[in-house]
Amino acid sequence: MKPAELKKLKSILQKPKKMVIITHWSPDGDAIGSSLGFYNYLIQKKHSVTVITPNDSPAFLDWMAGSKRIVDFSKDTAKSTKILNAAEVIWCLDFNSLKRIDKMGPLVEASEAIKVMIDHHPQPDDFADFNHHSVKACSTCELIYSLIEMLGDKKKIDKKIAECLYTGIMTDTGSFRYSSTTADTHRTVAALIDAGADNGEIHSRVYNDSSEDRLKLIGYSLSQKMVVLKEYNTGYISLTQDEQTRFNYKKGDTEGLVNYILSIRGMKFAAFMTERDGIVKMSFRSNGKFDVNAFARTHFGGGGHVNAAGGFSNDPIAEVIRTFQTLVPEYSKQLTNPK
Ligand code: 5GP
Ligand code: MN
Repeated sequence: MKPAELKKLKSILQKPKKMVIITHWSPDGDAIGSSLGFYNYLIQKKHSVTVITPNDSPAFLDWMAGSKRIVDFSKDTAKSTKILNAAEVIWCLDFNSLKRIDKMGPLVEASEAIKVMIDHHPQPDDFADFNHHSVKACSTCELIYSLIEMLGDKKKIDKKIAECLYTGIMTDTGSFRYSSTTADTHRTVAALIDAGADNGEIHSRVYNDSSEDRLKLIGYSLSQKMVVLKEYNTGYISLTQDEQTRFNYKKGDTEGLVNYILSIRGMKFAAFMTERDGIVKMSFRSNGKFDVNAFARTHFGGGGHVNAAGGFSNDPIAEVIRTFQTLVPEYSKQLTNPK
């Protein structure tokens, strides 16, 4: 953010205002962590703030400070619309296209509020008045930390804020292992631990929160449903609604499942397809240069990052699998390149 823009933003923040924080559909650790981390900062500054999500969030994030106050647009549409329409400032966190917030998109577009986008995904749309955007950031939480720092408020980062931001950085970097993790990331994380985030405890709250059913679903998916296309260094898993019901599927239960495929030696591309809310939702991951953001944008109306992206299809799941199988050979050159 340019110094002149930062100055303007600072002056906007000076007097208490009605603010709304929005994050993307199917919020993950970074979406909720950045939203609640920033929420806890803004309420310290005496603003009146509501976090609104397009749909509900997974239970493994419900321990964060302010979590119980999140308003779910899909459940409380009238209430959220009213709050949104009254907002003077709308913060858009961890997404950069209004398509990512589903039915809230047109409301945000029509709103006269000041809009600020804080995000780390590539190819941002131009809908906000202010942008704090960097594809180099490992997470939106890292950008929230740097914004608070730029606003001269680093000392305001208390245990609550630190816990939220730590969580988003941890989940979006795969516990500090993806190449997006830099020395700066570790410096930020060190400051968050100093501010009161208990790293072991947070890891346990997020990752040791599975049900027995969840582990059985993962076991079933890996042993019965994983297909490896060895000649293309590609693998995929698909799950129908019935299969999920059989294992009492709860939101978040398949989180991280796609990553197991990439842990097979030499694997470059992994996909997960699942029947959800009447459509087929897809997750894509890659090792190395294969660009799953481009793949998701080109074929499945989605997007994301180079190594982690998602998309969807309105076709039946069997058809989506067939489409995927015919697409993969088209990328043979990239997928068999040793680099
Ligand atoms: P996940 O597979 O964990 O749901 O998402 C991986 C990454 O892709 C995240 O950064 C997420 O924001 C992005 N992503 C997932 N689904 C979609 C989608 O339908 N559209 C776009 N633009 N991005 C997506
Ligand atoms: Mn993120």
